[in-house]
Parts: sequence; C-alpha cells; structure tokens
Amino acid sequence: MSSDKIIDGKAFAAGLRQRVASAVPAFVKAAGRKPGLAVVLVGDDPASQVYVGSKKKATVEAGMESFEYRLPDSVSQGELITLVEQLNADDGVDGILVQLPLPSHIDDKAVIAAIDPAKDVDGFHVVNAGRLAVGEDAFVPCTPLGCLMLLKDRLGDLSGKNAVVIGRSNIVGKPMAQLLLAENCTVTIAHSRTEDLADVVRRADIIVAAVGRPEMVKGDWLKDGAIVIDVGINRLAPTDGEHKGRLVGDVAFDEALGHVGAITPVPGGVGPMTIACLLRNTLVAAHRRAGLLAPEGL
Ligand code: NDP
Repeated sequence: MSSDKIIDGKAFAAGLRQRVASAVPAFVKAAGRKPGLAVVLVGDDPASQVYVGSKKKATVEAGMESFEYRLPDSVSQGELITLVEQLNADDGVDGILVQLPLPSHIDDKAVIAAIDPAKDVDGFHVVNAGRLAVGEDAFVPCTPLGCLMLLKDRLGDLSGKNAVVIGRSNIVGKPMAQLLLAENCTVTIAHSRTEDLADVVRRADIIVAAVGRPEMVKGDWLKDGAIVIDVGINRLAPTDGEHKGRLVGDVAFDEALGHVGAITPVPGGVGPMTIACLLRNTLVAAHRRAGLLAPEGL
C-alpha cells in the first residue's frame, strides 16, 4: 500500500487546530477576551457525551473559553430555547452548538432556528444554509468544510472536476454539493433513489460518500485515479466475522486502494476534521462579532 494514497485527516486537522490556536492570542489582545464556544447537551446519549467531551477538550487546548450546558432529557423545548436565547445575548459566547440528536419531544429545527446566525458555528441555521446556496459568506457545516479542505489540499484547483456526492442530508451531502459547485466542479448528488449508483460513481473524479452504510461503495465502482472522501462512520457488529466491532467507512477501503488516486481512511480521515473546523468557525465568529478581520489561511 502506498502511503501517498492515504489522505491523513488526522495530521491535517492537527495542523488546522495549531493554526487556530496560534491566532487566539492576537484576538485576546485585540478584543480583551478569549473566543468562547458554548456547547449544549440534552440527555445522556453516550456517543453525544463523547463528542461533547472531545469538543470541550479541543476548545480549551486551542486557548478558547468552553461553556458547557448539560440538561436532563426531561427539559422542555421552551426551556432549551430560553437557554439558546440567553447564549445569543451573552457577549462572551461567539459560537453556540446544540448537540444533535435531541430527544423526540423537541423539534430540532425550532431549536436551531433560535440560534443567532452570527453564532451558528455548526452552520445548520437556514440563514447560513441559504447564504451558502447563493454564494454569500456563511458558516458552513464543519464536516463538509473539512472534506473540502482535504480535497483542496490534495488537488489544488477543483475547477471542472466531475464530483459525485452520495447522500443529501442537510448537514453533510447538501452543503458538500454546494461547496463543490462553488469550486466550479460539475456536481451530481446521489441518494437512496439513484438508479445504477455504480455507473454514476464510475464517472467521478471526486467522490464524497456520506451514506452511513458500511463499505457500500465497491472498488470496481471507482474510476482509476479518483479522489475519495469517505465521511461514513459505521461500527460493524461484534459478531461480524474477523471484523469484530471495527469502524469502517461507506467505501470498501482495501478494494478502493487498487483504483483511487487517494482516499481518506476511517478512522483518521474526515472525523478529526470536524472538530478542527468547529474551532476554526468559532475563531472566525469571534473576529466578526468583535469587528476584527479573521486571520487568513484558516
Ligand atoms: P443521513 O442518514 O442523514 O443521510 C444519509 C444519506 O444517504 C441520505 O441522503 C440517503 O438517501 C443516502 N442513502 C442511504 N442509502 C443509500 C443507498 N443505498 N444508496 C445511495 N444513497 C443512500 O446521514 P448523514 O449525512 O448525517 O451521515 C452520513 C454518514 O456520515 C454517517 O455514517 C455518519 O455517521 C457520518 N458522519 C460523519 C461525520 C464525521 O466524520 N465527523 C459527521 C456527520 C456524519 P435519502 O435522502 O434518499 O434517504
């Protein structure tokens, strides 16, 4: 296996986190305070607790202020929105992230709509989604933003490339397609109703797979030299033969290596980029709110 075929998201994310951290002291000097990220967790979902813990650790390591709010499962939608409104009004808070999924009695759309778009560092608010769609400056959801950074780092100019995004969720597939379109790619969005997906994928120079189905994209679906970004995070069952609970992506990685120009591994590809981009978005939000120019090269 040639290591230059592996896109090392972990290393790229570490570099981005370092660049963010090294820009923080200048912000503190100019604004007289640290950039602040508030993370709201409702309930005790174990995976969400891990994500929130990692976000807090990374925020503090970058020299930023982390505010954490843990609310019981029983919290009402109204109480949660009241907290979001308090955070909107808090000058020390630059970014607000409400960890999804929320309990079923809470409408996540209503909660996201309550976040001030200027503090929407997750980029889920319709104002930011709309700005991205019309080509205005927007907070872009962290996972697709991280995917784009990895693609540009590997390919440079993406102009004219055939890109296929598999998945059309609001948090990954759709914003990913918008970002690639803005880079002048010819973009196809595939989903569960797409006919002959293998044939669609075979035409792509760039494939972003965001499906949530273990190793669905096979090696022989891929054009020689294609660049593959695998967003999927799938844990195989502990009973699954020799795999024993292993994490895999949406792309059959070993098969793909024989065809691709480069591919992100799972884990160690897209995953680490998400938190790094969250820190990046928080730093940018802090600069905008303080009327300062955000540092270049983030
Ligand atoms: P969703 O479940 O919201 O969306 C999945 C998409 O895949 C849908 O658009 C669906 O189509 C499409 N799909 C499902 N089955 C097929 C199929 N057989 N062929 C083609 N398309 C199909 O997932 P997310 O976008 O939230 O996440 C996708 C994956 O990325 C998951 O594995 C998730 O864990 C991972 N992820 C990783 C992150 C990270 O690395 N930090 C962050 C976010 C997600 P349709 O719309 O027609 O139903």
